[in-house]
Amino acid sequence: MQKSGRLQEESVRLLREAGLDIETGKNKLKATATNLPVELFFLRDDDIPGYVSDGVADAGVIGRDVFAEQQSGNEVVSALGFARCRLSLAVPSDVVYTGVSWLDGKRIATSFPNLLNQFLVENNINAAVHLVSGSVEITTGIGLADAICDLVSTGSTLASNNLKEVQQVFASEAIMIANPAIDADRRQILDCLLFRIAAVQKAAKYRYILLNCPDVAIDAVSAIIPGMKSPTVLPLAQEGWSSLHSVVDENDFWSRIDRLKAAGAEGILVVPIEKMIL
Ligand code: AMP
Repeated sequence: MQKSGRLQEESVRLLREAGLDIETGKNKLKATATNLPVELFFLRDDDIPGYVSDGVADAGVIGRDVFAEQQSGNEVVSALGFARCRLSLAVPSDVVYTGVSWLDGKRIATSFPNLLNQFLVENNINAAVHLVSGSVEITTGIGLADAICDLVSTGSTLASNNLKEVQQVFASEAIMIANPAIDADRRQILDCLLFRIAAVQKAAKYRYILLNCPDVAIDAVSAIIPGMKSPTVLPLAQEGWSSLHSVVDENDFWSRIDRLKAAGAEGILVVPIEKMIL
């Protein structure tokens, strides 16, 4: 995984949530998990696809952008959902951008020549691609390029450099890649890790819900929060009332809560779930 940078903290957090006991230190380049036979290398993210395809590492966490740019021949084994960003074209704010044809004959600075060239070919654009390894945003201001192609998430770096985003080229997020040729024992450890990561990811999308309702409303309330199989129904000490427990999708739980109240639910509690195994 990445030694330092945007992916590092979330990558370690995800593996810890998946149950890996890892000690990290500021200048540590290697760590051994104490509870699974897994060794971690902390590397420059650009180097990770190469280490994985060479078999030095069996798997790696990188941005999909780096994976697609390098075409290292590894397989993507999981989309991790963090570090979402896009590779986009941007031009100086005062440019009247008329569409992709504006790029014809222009100079574009980027650290992603392969992804950019692929986009230019697909759009029949003839532009000069200048490879720069960093500080892409200043290249238009110093006369090196007419446009840039760089990673964007909020757009604030572009804005502070008087640039505007005009075209998305590629959508990215953190992914886990693996060497397709790893042996069966290592594949088993990787599968165990992937299973746990999926449980963490699934849990993040759902909430555990507890509520009270009159017994006569149990069917109506259960229909609104059916859960994984069916809700748990427990009698309350107060005659004629029950407690219902279930899980709800985070994306639509507000609309369900209005319906639950209308059906007679009271004392609704919604709590996070740590792991979810179906
Ligand atoms: P960095 O730490 O800046 O080298 O970026 C490492 C990876 O984080 C990139 O390969 C992208 O996948 C991702 N990334 C880069 N820029 C952003 C951004 N602005 N927002 C979110 N993720 C990003």
